[in-house]
Amino acid sequence: MQAAILLGAPGAGKGTAAESVTEQTDFVHVSTGNMLREELKAGSALGREARAYMDKGELVPDDVIMRIVTARLESGAPDARYVFDGFPRTLEQARLLGDVLASHGARLLCVFLLEVPEALVVDRMSGRRICRECGAVYHIRNIPPRREGVCDHCGGELYQRDDDAEETVRNRLAVFRKQTGGLIDYYQRMGLLVRVDARDRELTTQQMLRHLPGGGSRT
Ligand code: AMP
Repeated sequence: MQAAILLGAPGAGKGTAAESVTEQTDFVHVSTGNMLREELKAGSALGREARAYMDKGELVPDDVIMRIVTARLESGAPDARYVFDGFPRTLEQARLLGDVLASHGARLLCVFLLEVPEALVVDRMSGRRICRECGAVYHIRNIPPRREGVCDHCGGELYQRDDDAEETVRNRLAVFRKQTGGLIDYYQRMGLLVRVDARDRELTTQQMLRHLPGGGSRT
């Protein structure tokens, strides 16, 4: 097992970047946000527990997150390569992830920090639309679907996430600065941090692929 991490403010483009990387490599995209939204949709106990936090733009408790991540890794192939999107988000999650990887004899390859100016973040989030079925990410102007409101991949309905509302977006940015900011220092000290200029989608993917071993193509 190998892993890479995507760090960045909400709206920095982590989900889109992770999708591009997984399309062009054998890395598997693991998004804790997507997994939590799946749990919400399924109406599970875990989903109900997470909802109260997500609706306010707060972080879901570490033990809940670690439960879903560990279950996900355990159900995957032993030699799988993961790109984590939106995880870890706290120092505690980062330490626990380190333990989980070590227990699988796995290696953390690098930690990408997607950097974008805050004004761009707000624009990206307000225009963001997600497929209800497969979770694919669009933007009404920057990445429009071929047919308005319909997913190009699976024909699912596109919707705006409740937590992309302006008030919640502001809180999520504050939470990122306060709780996730410390991870930047943590991984920098470990010599794993790779800063990525994430203003342009194509260039973001190219910068990331350069740092991933075997990041060329599936062929
Ligand atoms: P995202 O789709 O990554 O922006 O996540 C949406 C929401 O899910 C966040 O605002 C949090 O409430 C919750 N969430 C996702 N990943 C995590 C995580 N690693 N730790 C805590 N909460 C998370």
